[in-house]
Amino acid sequence: MFGKHIGVDLGTANVLIYVKGKGIVSSEPSVVAVAQRDNSIVAVGTEARDMLGRTPSAIQVIRPMRDGVIADYLTTEAMLRYFIGKVNGRFSLVKPEVMVCVPAGVTGVEQRAVQDACEAAGARRPAYVVSEPLAAAIGARIPISTPQGHMVVDIGGGRAEAAVISMYGIVVSESVRVAGDRLDDAIAAHIKRRYNLNIGDRTAEDVKIAIGSALPLDEQLTYDVRGRDQISGLPKTVTITAEDVCQAFHDPLQAILGSVRSVLERTPPELAADIIDRGVVLTGGTALLRNLDRLVTQEIGIPCYVADNPMDCVAIGAGIALEHLDLIQRAQPPEGEWMVSF
Ligand code: ADP
Ligand code: MG
Repeated sequence: MFGKHIGVDLGTANVLIYVKGKGIVSSEPSVVAVAQRDNSIVAVGTEARDMLGRTPSAIQVIRPMRDGVIADYLTTEAMLRYFIGKVNGRFSLVKPEVMVCVPAGVTGVEQRAVQDACEAAGARRPAYVVSEPLAAAIGARIPISTPQGHMVVDIGGGRAEAAVISMYGIVVSESVRVAGDRLDDAIAAHIKRRYNLNIGDRTAEDVKIAIGSALPLDEQLTYDVRGRDQISGLPKTVTITAEDVCQAFHDPLQAILGSVRSVLERTPPELAADIIDRGVVLTGGTALLRNLDRLVTQEIGIPCYVADNPMDCVAIGAGIALEHLDLIQRAQPPEGEWMVSF
């Protein structure tokens, strides 16, 4: 019988899996806990994430993806095997057909590593690969089949990718290694500088989600952060404001806006005119940052919208892309290794 058709969003922060006919069936952090004694897997996903910063030294908690590409091949393969097994049924004899995404502009070697990892983890050969902005646009239900320009900006944990798409192909794209993780770092650095308080990555992310905003807020939100005082070395609580956080975001947000501007500057005029009419669509987890759409609208001068369920778009789009293989293949440059390979 035919196997399942699945779309995989192998992200720096989260791995999402879409199954045709069912929707998103798995969404867990890209984290693995490994026992150092024999390199055996202790936990994967949410369970492993909850161990971050809290394990004895014999257990290492690893994020095997960095900046959208594989940083630790064997751990990535183990993680994929766990997630693919979870959705395909651990004892199923039929391998699923898999479409996985990679950032636009990765090298052939990086892309091949993602394909190999999927195949080693139980995907049917060949595992197909689609570039992330294309998957994001398809998942956001943007009608990219027509000769009209659409712009999508996918902002996850490790990377922000901006692309102009027409007829299933990427016309211009740019990717910067600045996204949600950098916002967390900026919060931690700011709190350290201003309050002499050291905080962990999880705490910084909690602050961002609780009170973070790309533009100053009318209401004055505050958050009690717990960390370790740099001078006394003891635990301490400090109340920080949304204004503190908003200031800290300035540099990373400008870097992301820079990539959006650079893509627009390189967009052919006919397509640029379409984008002015249709606006820019934001996807990825960082699209959920308060007022990010308003900041982009204000700074770029083109209306900007957040897609429905922005975190799910890439996985959904990868799954749907499996049904349009020929159309996507047709839109690839002849020797373009990096968008879709077969
Ligand atoms: P990736 O594709 O890199 O795996 P995701 O698209 O899953 O990343 O997005 C993860 C990022 O989104 C993380 O940096 C996370 O902190 C951020 N994020 C999730 N929810 C929110 C929110 N409500 N506000 C701001 N950032 C958020
Ligand atoms: Mg992503």
